[in-house]
Amino acid sequence: MCDCVNRGGVYIHVAVCRSKCIYCDFYSEVCHSGFDWERYVKTLVAELELRSCGLSAMREVSLYIGGGTPSLMPVGLLRFLVSEARRIIMSAGSGDVRLTEVTLEVNPDDVTAVNADVWLDAGINRVSMGVQSMNDKELRSIGRRHDAKKVMEAYSILRQRFGNLNLDLMFGLPGQTLESLSSTLDVFTELHPEHISAYSLMYEERTALTRLRDLGRIKETDENLSVAMFEMVNERLRKAGYMRYEISNYALPGFESRHNSAYWEGVPYVGVGPSAHSFDGRRCRRWNISDIRAYMLAVENGEKCHEEEMLSDKEITEERIMTGLRTAKGIDIVRFENDFGKAARVELLDKAASMLGEGYLKLDYNRLSLTDKGVMLSDDIIVDLF
Ligand code: SF4
Repeated sequence: MCDCVNRGGVYIHVAVCRSKCIYCDFYSEVCHSGFDWERYVKTLVAELELRSCGLSAMREVSLYIGGGTPSLMPVGLLRFLVSEARRIIMSAGSGDVRLTEVTLEVNPDDVTAVNADVWLDAGINRVSMGVQSMNDKELRSIGRRHDAKKVMEAYSILRQRFGNLNLDLMFGLPGQTLESLSSTLDVFTELHPEHISAYSLMYEERTALTRLRDLGRIKETDENLSVAMFEMVNERLRKAGYMRYEISNYALPGFESRHNSAYWEGVPYVGVGPSAHSFDGRRCRRWNISDIRAYMLAVENGEKCHEEEMLSDKEITEERIMTGLRTAKGIDIVRFENDFGKAARVELLDKAASMLGEGYLKLDYNRLSLTDKGVMLSDDIIVDLF
């Protein structure tokens, strides 16, 4: 499926958080004081070791430690985890491997000079911080624990040590206005991190946020305002020198995330930890059980801790359309025809014709991609192309 056969990714999921943000539907559990970090980390390492055959063809590997909140992990264990992951990745490829990007997700509350020194020394070369907003009222409205002052302190500590930083931004927050979003963007562009991920707040099923909306205690942002917010984010970041290379991701030139790009380019990745997903780069997807205790017991006892599915030809084609359209480069039509046949290319372009005419899609140099106008309707457009 992918032309970059020697690339690969390893994702390690740290499924604990200090508290649960009201919009979050990722699998994580609230970390209690007696949480057995050592056992958890040893289980992650054991799973990666067991699955090292899935890494053997990878020569350029990105490592991403995400969550949950990996910055809650005691730093000594984080150092051990990175060093063991590096050893396993290197030996799987008989030493002929380049570990390109090593990302750690952090929450501002956990960023101290002492922690950041250890993260750097452990080999982390990219830090992604969940900021979301620089307005304290908005942060409280979604259950975030930090405030804007803490973000500034944390950023300063990270900036002194790391040359590649990502900040997460959210728009469409309860009570957020174009003015308050503009103030947050002022700070983001002033700080000028190498990468910014900007997401629209989603009302996912079974989250506290959705329950509060259904009870009438939170008002969902009106669709026109959401579109105006997206346009503001896009325009302000473009003017500040960022390129939107994926629906929600902006980077200064040369700082596109290698790990995230792997997901959209069909590169194989191995995910370890409860609820982590994996893809073999061809047609096998697998995902671990979403239960920390059951996961640890299964790995310790050598039992199966995952489900898997084999994608059909139709699902692989749809996957290419979906992931291709998420990126600014779009779908390579020539490669699409090579992989799926002339009839599939003709069908895709037939379905795209009206949306090309209406300005939601564009076709440049044999690449089919979303226009800025199309990005806001991407889910509907992608389904229409299936
Ligand atoms: S810190 Fe991140 S993973 Fe944890 S609850 Fe909040 S959004 Fe979800």
